Amino acid sequence: MDLKEVQQLFPSEDGDKLQQATFLNYIEKLIMTIDSYKDPNKSTLGPIQEKSSDFYKEIIETAHTPNNGLDMEQVVNELTKLAKGHPYHTRNFVTNVLPMASIPGIIGILTTTLLNGNNLWDVYGPAAAETEVKVISMMSKLVGYDHTKSWGYTTWGGQGAVFSGLRLAIAKQFPKAKEEGIPNNLYCFASETAHYSLLKSIEATGIGSNHLIRVKAGKDHSMDMNDLQAKLEEVIHKGGIPIYIVATTGTTDSFGIDDIKSIKAITAEMEKKHKLKPIHIHADSALGGFYCLFREYDFKQNPLQFEDEVLEGLSKINRRMQHLYLADSLCFDFQKLGQTPYLTSLFLIKNGEDFSLLDLEEFETPYVGNRGYGSYHTGYTLECSRMGSSIAIYAALLAFGVTGYQKILANYVRVNLAFRKKLTARIPNISITNNENIGPITTFRLYKDAVQWELEQNGNLTREQIQQTNELNYQLFEILGEHREDVFFGDTKKQCLVDAVNTDERVPIYAAKFFSISPYTEIDHLDHMVQAIENSIPKVGSDIIEVSI
Ligand SMILES: *Cc1c(COP(=O)(O)O)cnc(C)c1O
Repeated sequence: MDLKEVQQLFPSEDGDKLQQATFLNYIEKLIMTIDSYKDPNKSTLGPIQEKSSDFYKEIIETAHTPNNGLDMEQVVNELTKLAKGHPYHTRNFVTNVLPMASIPGIIGILTTTLLNGNNLWDVYGPAAAETEVKVISMMSKLVGYDHTKSWGYTTWGGQGAVFSGLRLAIAKQFPKAKEEGIPNNLYCFASETAHYSLLKSIEATGIGSNHLIRVKAGKDHSMDMNDLQAKLEEVIHKGGIPIYIVATTGTTDSFGIDDIKSIKAITAEMEKKHKLKPIHIHADSALGGFYCLFREYDFKQNPLQFEDEVLEGLSKINRRMQHLYLADSLCFDFQKLGQTPYLTSLFLIKNGEDFSLLDLEEFETPYVGNRGYGSYHTGYTLECSRMGSSIAIYAALLAFGVTGYQKILANYVRVNLAFRKKLTARIPNISITNNENIGPITTFRLYKDAVQWELEQNGNLTREQIQQTNELNYQLFEILGEHREDVFFGDTKKQCLVDAVNTDERVPIYAAKFFSISPYTEIDHLDHMVQAIENSIPKVGSDIIEVSI
């Protein structure tokens, strides 16, 4: 390959028509091939590719970089092969929060990569800087933050947001911790059903996971306020300093929504009573935060004409979600319910000035920022170079608008309500285990004979009895998993924790999951899914093995 040929691997520098057509041709080929694999009645792009047990080992041994580059046609061909058997977000894709990337989202990311600016500094990435400021303002207004004070940035997932919140929490109470390290008596609090993001963040900041206090969750899978209060008191009494409370607003398994209003009231009271510095509250709204788009929905007039039940469900979610703005920081994982590609997460903070606690000194950033030109330099992020993912977020917000999101979010509620009814009517020994929560998720649990969910939830069974049902459900997961090409369900080995009569430890509950995430899943498709579950049941429970954890 001579240099001229290498140049052909790049977009043109002058808008050359031939180079443009070739480039478009690759994209067209990619889209057309993937489309040719699609079947709305399957949850994969063509048959799942069976993988031998040494699949990855073989790859490690055979993969090599070609000495001379392949023709781009061949490269595109290789890429389309990757799509074969790939999970795809059809109506039957109900496994977890793995969304389909919408066209505005994809076009947005394409814009990001075509411009390929660096979101670190507006001189290098003006488009992303502009859209980042725009989406910060747009989402601040929707959530109810004062947009003249709030600030934020796009980051590495809901995990990155939980981490960034903790960084701020430490800096707010111990501004010198950056230089001197952290004290050894800091504590963080979250629900026992919270995402493991906080666990990892506590490990990474050196606080130590023994200092993560897990608060009990109640029957609605939200944090028990009495337990939070008691555990805060206990930590303070023993000389610990509470710095960070993560309120999960939309748990990943049950869609439990922590009561931020009460959490705020409890922490304010503690701060006053024990003369503490402000405890940072992060709303882990990575998943559920989008439901705050109903904050200003007129539930009386109901302009989008939602059915009564759907309206009631949305209004129930809104009763908790409308208080999201009380949190000091929060997050929107646009790659979840925001309908954009990975990775497009927005971290927002109520008081933007707090970022100055994390910012680098001018002396530390000799290449960028602090020039006469350029005025947007994100020295306070943990990342250095940053992808301009706000461009995709911006495109999605423009294309969907508030009502577009409201419609898709309401449809998740609609299909979940219907799924629950159909499932329990058809299969009497299945119980819905997140009945008090509505949203995109239904967790369901199979019993050998009669449903025992009430007994389990009330702590009336033994650990062994609960584990036996867990085992039964594990078998159901396996059978549903085998048939995922037809309907792709999800499952969890810790939907929640319950008490048992014969142990002090809380016992995890296994449950299968219906997570409606595809825009294409509608009520008409549910009978087929219930049928798929029904067909799996005779294969379950033939030999229940005693498990001990
Ligand atoms: C998904 C999720 C996270 C982690 O987000 P990533 O984008 O995967 O890093 C954190 N918290 C909750 C509640 C989530 O649902």
